[in-house]
Amino acid sequence: MPRTALIAGNWKMNGLAGDLGFFGEVARAAADSPADILVCPPATLLALAAKTCSGTAISVGGQDCHARESGAHTGDVSAVMLRDAGADYVILGHSERRADHGESDAIVRSKAEAALAAGLIPIICVGETQAERESGQAETVVARQLAGSLPENPQKMELVIAYEPVWAIGTGLTASEADVAEIHAAIRKRLPDPLTTRILYGGSVKPANAESLLSLADVDGALVGGASLKASDFTSIIGAVGR
Ligand code: PEP
Repeated sequence: MPRTALIAGNWKMNGLAGDLGFFGEVARAAADSPADILVCPPATLLALAAKTCSGTAISVGGQDCHARESGAHTGDVSAVMLRDAGADYVILGHSERRADHGESDAIVRSKAEAALAAGLIPIICVGETQAERESGQAETVVARQLAGSLPENPQKMELVIAYEPVWAIGTGLTASEADVAEIHAAIRKRLPDPLTTRILYGGSVKPANAESLLSLADVDGALVGGASLKASDFTSIIGAVGR
């Protein structure tokens, strides 16, 4: 694989200070892995997680950021603040943010531009709903999201795309290998920097399916939700890279 794999965990709204023991077990797997390893805890734990992971091969990231650097935006966190807390990456445009907070492609794009300006690597999520897949619209929807969410001038700036079919997130359902391969190839050909940009698959990745998903040609890693909460599951997904 010409690109270094990335295994990223998205803790969503889970995790308390008492859960940071997770990183001890994961750090051992990360040290032995050819992949980049990332965990995105809730914002409340970010600085603590960054400190815990300092000196290990684990990076930490945010789950969202505001497009502005600072100001009157109660409850929001800026990309600069994430960077200041020790983040290297930020997940943007996750389908839960798009659905729960009405995030449009234009909003995701402005957040991605803010993330890049702050020195973060944005992980931009795209993916179709079940209805869109059933009506044969999966590729069209993903292409539209990509065109609207990618930063205006992404050349020479590192970013990551996560293909996450909405119907596969947290449901135990995974897209078929053929569908994943087809959409990842479609994403790859629309990227400004197709050779170096990593495309992750997300949607019920678990120890049992990680190896087959990660072996697909255009799959450069995984964005893992539920299975990233349990150190043994997450380490076994890390262990599936390059097997
Ligand atoms: C996610 O939320 O990004 C995700 C892929 O969740 P899960 O692995 O639980 O489906």
